[in-house]
Amino acid sequence: MSNESLANLLREERRFAPPADLAAAANVTAEAYEQAKADRLGFWAEQARRLTWAAEPTETLDWSNPPFAKWFADGKLNVAYNCVDRHVENGLGDRVAIHFEGEPGDSRSLTYADLQREVAKAANALTELGVQAGDRVAIYLPMIPEAVVAMLACARIGAPHSVVFGGFSADALATRIQDADARVVITSDGGYRRGKPSALKPAVDEALTRPGTENVRSVLVVRRTGQETAWHEGRDVWWHELVDRQSEQHTPEAFGAEHPLFILYTSGTTGKPKGILHTTGGYLTQVAYTHHAVFDLKPESDVYWCTADVGWVTGHSYIVYGPLANGATEVLYEGTPDTPHQGRWWEIVQKYGVTIFYTAPTAIRACMKWGDDIPAKFDLSSLRVLGSVGEPINPEAWVWYRRNIGADRTPVVDTWWQTETGGIMISPLPGVTETKPGSAQVPLPGIAATVVDDEAREVPDGAGGYLVLTEPWPSMLRTIWGDDQRYLDTYWARFGPGQSATGVAWRYFAGDGAKKDDDGDIWLLGRVDDVMLVSGHNISTTEVESALVSHPKVAEAAVVGATDPQTTQAICAFVILRGSASESEGLVEELRAHVAKALGPIAKPKRILPVAELPKTRSGKIMRRLLRDVAENRALGDVTTLTDSSVMELIQSKLPTASED
Ligand code: ATP
Ligand code: MG
Repeated sequence: MSNESLANLLREERRFAPPADLAAAANVTAEAYEQAKADRLGFWAEQARRLTWAAEPTETLDWSNPPFAKWFADGKLNVAYNCVDRHVENGLGDRVAIHFEGEPGDSRSLTYADLQREVAKAANALTELGVQAGDRVAIYLPMIPEAVVAMLACARIGAPHSVVFGGFSADALATRIQDADARVVITSDGGYRRGKPSALKPAVDEALTRPGTENVRSVLVVRRTGQETAWHEGRDVWWHELVDRQSEQHTPEAFGAEHPLFILYTSGTTGKPKGILHTTGGYLTQVAYTHHAVFDLKPESDVYWCTADVGWVTGHSYIVYGPLANGATEVLYEGTPDTPHQGRWWEIVQKYGVTIFYTAPTAIRACMKWGDDIPAKFDLSSLRVLGSVGEPINPEAWVWYRRNIGADRTPVVDTWWQTETGGIMISPLPGVTETKPGSAQVPLPGIAATVVDDEAREVPDGAGGYLVLTEPWPSMLRTIWGDDQRYLDTYWARFGPGQSATGVAWRYFAGDGAKKDDDGDIWLLGRVDDVMLVSGHNISTTEVESALVSHPKVAEAAVVGATDPQTTQAICAFVILRGSASESEGLVEELRAHVAKALGPIAKPKRILPVAELPKTRSGKIMRRLLRDVAENRALGDVTTLTDSSVMELIQSKLPTASED
């Protein structure tokens, strides 16, 4: 597509009507919104019937002690039974649950019957290690089937897991082990990353030398790469020695719906990571419902693939709990999209006939940068729904995704949610919603979200402000682990509780800026911390970034507001140029003019700095707070969740040349 036709397409604000075949057979119809609006709690009680309960809940929501919610509190269930055993009992034991694809090209498929045996053995093994209901277990593994098995085994015995992304350092792992006071760590010798075995166990050994980790009794080690591994006798135990000899029988115990399921730390883009606590009944209800509704899942025929890592909430909700509760067949891939070649993802889509594909904007932009010819080499005709999550997706990337991956016929669902919300909250529904490039659009049935101004007043269509959730939802976080006060302060203090016609209204503040367009559709504008104040105008970093990447020479951009004596804040942009573009004299001026033309002169960046890389979290999000530190000549804040800390040194070394006024 030429740049001109792309510009035209975006200027038209084109919408894409749902494909007729999808609309005719969609899992959810437009009536769901009305039904949920008329009786929100009834709607969720109905969705809870997707699960198999050992004791049916009679109560839906207890909101008598806000903001501490209880959902389905008198119900009892076992999460692992719901994700595995009941499918086998329903005659689906031979259905593939997981097609595992290792980075070096090894592959392995596990049916639901296989998964049941593996989870039972792992649950017996954890019990032999002395793990009891309520004990925390840290999981630090690559993307291998044992990661899913370990999570389900913990769920099965009621031991909350804390999954720590396998790319994190010993420091990040140690702080999470300390905060959750974990008793057991499950890890592996290593995993394959970018064509090489990459060790994991040494980071565990190092983390366990830190004070506050003494309560870790055992380290269960999966053999993945076969590399040399230091051994602590009496503490370390091989998975294949302990788990493989266990019985394949394990009777699941039913736990109350508010029994903790996991703690997961947020990615730390805005500060010190928060240990988000999720429980079982409400969480599983919402992830199962949303996975069914948002992706229009047909478990008997679909092959679903979410490229996230199990170390993030997307991996918890949309690799493990949602898809497996629904009896889906899914792909699990260990490696990166460009190993050994930049078509690796599309090769996997072709191999398994993937029908539903869920990934992040940062990955989509990387694929755009690598070129349209790469996906064109593969047969992607099986795809019917594409999803995006993690950041606002710029319209160019949205259109590229739909056109080059979805052959211009699949809907793209832009799903807004957070570690805290547990499940998807705002998204179009395939077959129902006319989609708009770049907008998450509408709250799902049963979800109440809006945009408010500084005084907590709902803004009219066409205006911007802060995204809030105005009613509790089943998969909401219950607190920040060990810190109820931070839970209150971070999420509930900003906009409430205030008086409303019905009494005291509690509004959950998501921390994200948003606007409503003239149709009332919601557009996410990035974190509130990322909204800039320039000469009295609020300008979102996302909008300036989107304008920059619409220039043909720019592959990626990150924008921050730096304190400025004249204008309060000055817009400072860091850009990665496209492969062929060079850092010529006039380029910075050309880009400034380009942004001014797209958004108006007030949004013209004061400084633009071409860089080779941007600081990203391991989940692929740009850490703007670090760029702000750089732009304001401050010492860098917490960098433990950064993929590669040398990126920051590289950027800092280039800074003196950045002042182009
Ligand atoms: P921390 O809270 O520690 O700063 P984080 O917010 O990056 O970390 P996550 O819970 O992984 O941690 O990310 C949720 C955030 O990601 C949302 O609040 C939002 O800013 C962004 N996000 C996720 N999906 C979308 C989307 N579809 N559109 C826009 N933004 C999104
Ligand atoms: Mg957040």
